[in-house]
Amino acid sequence: MNGGGLAPWAARDETSRGRRHPEPPPRLRSEYQRDRDRIVHSGAFRRLEYKTQVFVNHVGDMFRTRLTHSIEVAQIARSAARALGLNEDLTEAIALAHDLGHTPFGHAGQDTLNRCMKDYGGFEHNLQSLRVVDELEERYADFDGLNLTWETREGILKHCSPANARRLGDLGERFLQGRQPGPEAQLANLADEIAYNNHDVDDGLRAGLITVEQLCDIDLFAVQYRRVADAWPGISRRRLLHEVVRRMIDSQVSDLVESSRAAIAAAAPHGVEDVRTAPAPLIGFSEAMAKRNLELKRFLREHLYRHYRVRRMTAKADRIVSALFETFMDDELLLPPDYQDKIRGAREIAGRARVVADYIAGMTDRYAIGEYERLFDPAGLT
Ligand code: MG
Repeated sequence: MNGGGLAPWAARDETSRGRRHPEPPPRLRSEYQRDRDRIVHSGAFRRLEYKTQVFVNHVGDMFRTRLTHSIEVAQIARSAARALGLNEDLTEAIALAHDLGHTPFGHAGQDTLNRCMKDYGGFEHNLQSLRVVDELEERYADFDGLNLTWETREGILKHCSPANARRLGDLGERFLQGRQPGPEAQLANLADEIAYNNHDVDDGLRAGLITVEQLCDIDLFAVQYRRVADAWPGISRRRLLHEVVRRMIDSQVSDLVESSRAAIAAAAPHGVEDVRTAPAPLIGFSEAMAKRNLELKRFLREHLYRHYRVRRMTAKADRIVSALFETFMDDELLLPPDYQDKIRGAREIAGRARVVADYIAGMTDRYAIGEYERLFDPAGLT
């Protein structure tokens, strides 16, 4: 906790909108520390270790998984939160929870599941993260989910369609009214962006899917590359690239902190309400940095996420996820018993589809591959 250094618009235990099921205040921790601890102890958090970010988990031990990604996001978010006088515990809780609802196989899995669920309310990973912490975790005697504070739940729900926002009551309101989330949520969102852009450069280079030559056309990379290469002419390639990526992250975090300070000074908010009703988020990059980030993002989309080797993995992921979905929808007796119980409790087909989606979304990459093999591999019959 960054105690005395908290800005007037930072989240505080005393001003929290509380938990869905009232609980006595924690004795040794802040409310947001308790949120963070509950997230770290959840089953969904542990499964992040075996979920893909870009590269399928088992292709190499050096690549990011959703777990290491989430830890990197939390690190970046906490540093900036402290520098900006925001609530570090809340920022950390949001960062660690932000990807809990991700399907196996990264975005490919989510796109496929969304397509499978199109007649049953669709599938959004942000909403699923909220569903995990609100309903799906079964760990407490008195309630479903983790019973997190309103502020952590708000931060987890980064995007939301208007239809879903209407169902979510006060948590969905801001999407309908065009209001901003609290500053800690704004920050965690940008820390996510900083983390994945930079580690995808790092992982992409290591995997040999993108090259230094290509990246030298990208401002954010090129500036740091030239600086490091000029200052240490004999440096090894490995050190050079780490030094470049490290400096890229540092330049983005520094820009974020400075620009946010300037935006806050200009808006002169009195409290969090002023941050929420500001016409644009007060936590953000400078225009120049936002442009450079966009350039890097476009590059990664074109050269990394659409690389044929990545596409082969995503095509395979698509086939696995849709086959699992169709198979379980056709015959729910193929589901494990606890999911069969849940399906029996759902009367409408949309409710049954949601149970299947929950089951698939909760799978790790290797569990999904295992289920596919158990259901389709003829060798398993012998
Ligand atoms: Mg993320």
